[in-house]
Amino acid sequence: MTKRLYYDSSEIHEFDSVVEEVTPVSSTQSRPAVILRETAFYPTSGGQGHDTGWLTLGGGDRAKDRLRVAEVADAEDGRIVHYLEAPARLPLAGAAVHGSIDRERRRDHMQQHTGQHVLSAAFIELYQMPTVSFHMGEDYCSIDLTAPSVSSEQIAGAEKRANQIVLENRPVRIRYVSRAEAERLGLRKLPPEERDELRLIEVADFDMSACGGTHVSSSGQIGLILLRKSERVRQGTRVEFVCGGRAVRMARRDYNALSEAAALFSSQLWDVPDQIRKNVEDSKLVRKQKEDALDQLAELMALAALHDQAETNGRKIVVRTFSDRDIGFAKLFAQKVTRAGTPAIALVASSVDPLGLVFAQTSGGAKADMGALLKQVLSSVGGRGGGSRDFAQGGVPAGSKINVEQLLQQAAGTIGT
Ligand SMILES: [Zn+2]
Repeated sequence: MTKRLYYDSSEIHEFDSVVEEVTPVSSTQSRPAVILRETAFYPTSGGQGHDTGWLTLGGGDRAKDRLRVAEVADAEDGRIVHYLEAPARLPLAGAAVHGSIDRERRRDHMQQHTGQHVLSAAFIELYQMPTVSFHMGEDYCSIDLTAPSVSSEQIAGAEKRANQIVLENRPVRIRYVSRAEAERLGLRKLPPEERDELRLIEVADFDMSACGGTHVSSSGQIGLILLRKSERVRQGTRVEFVCGGRAVRMARRDYNALSEAAALFSSQLWDVPDQIRKNVEDSKLVRKQKEDALDQLAELMALAALHDQAETNGRKIVVRTFSDRDIGFAKLFAQKVTRAGTPAIALVASSVDPLGLVFAQTSGGAKADMGALLKQVLSSVGGRGGGSRDFAQGGVPAGSKINVEQLLQQAAGTIGT
């Protein structure tokens, strides 16, 4: 088993060790890997991400002696595997190496992970909601609580309590105890498997749980704990959160977005929701006014067209092409023409690309078949459409070069004026 230097201190960022085994790239392994006698690199486990960093060979400072550690994983036999990113050369077993851990990444992980201990304990203390899993992502972290729902008041309550523990700057200690002793201590979390000795992480007088991860040494180092959204998941409720540097970055991003929105409204940040509500209401009203105006316009245009058109064979045929209005307006116009009280047929087109046609007639007593007529006219130009005896709609593919006036006259001629 690899000796894990991070077990006793999360502050070890530099260490010396010896290479025990090297495995080159193979069909089952895409990157070469190194196993060391001891390491301070943390492997992915318990929800916490792995460390990255460097292994330097033989005390050398040449570029080819520096090997990038891109991923670190636990092997089943208790050894820790360091996967190397495109090394210029591989060390031999027995070689001396110097390990350096990416401090920024480690500090971030320690803040998120220790913050999770405090947050999980706060949810237990205040609402008896146990944490069943922890996830650390690139941007944010999350815990899954067994609760079917978590209210916004509970989110705010747990956040307040967790930050109180941060501000009190309580010591975070590592202890080793027997399983029997751990059971007597009443841990928040006991590992399921049988182990003789357990590693306990204790946030003084607040939380105690068995954990193999890396943690800060006092709660103040967690920094701000910021809770984000919560959502229902299969096994309960997922609560997203960020700690320390991440919380500052995320709050800054939120602030920038909100400031931009406020500038658009020329308002204060906290007035943005009201401004958006007002805008949504305004645009609904404008949309309604536009619909009413179009309806009235279509009606007036329909009446004028009927007035100008002579009656033949007991009905009026209105032929009209709109070059500046869409098919929706053409349809509205056709409906107004055919529902104005006198028997009429409307052969209407919108020449706004893609070209659309609407054929309609006053229902009852009409002899023509609009659906059949439209199909016939459109099939001659490669268009598609259809409908009932009294109303039909169709069009031609976008970009088609078609003389629409000619098409409508052809339809009018078929009906017979
Ligand atoms: Zn932990």
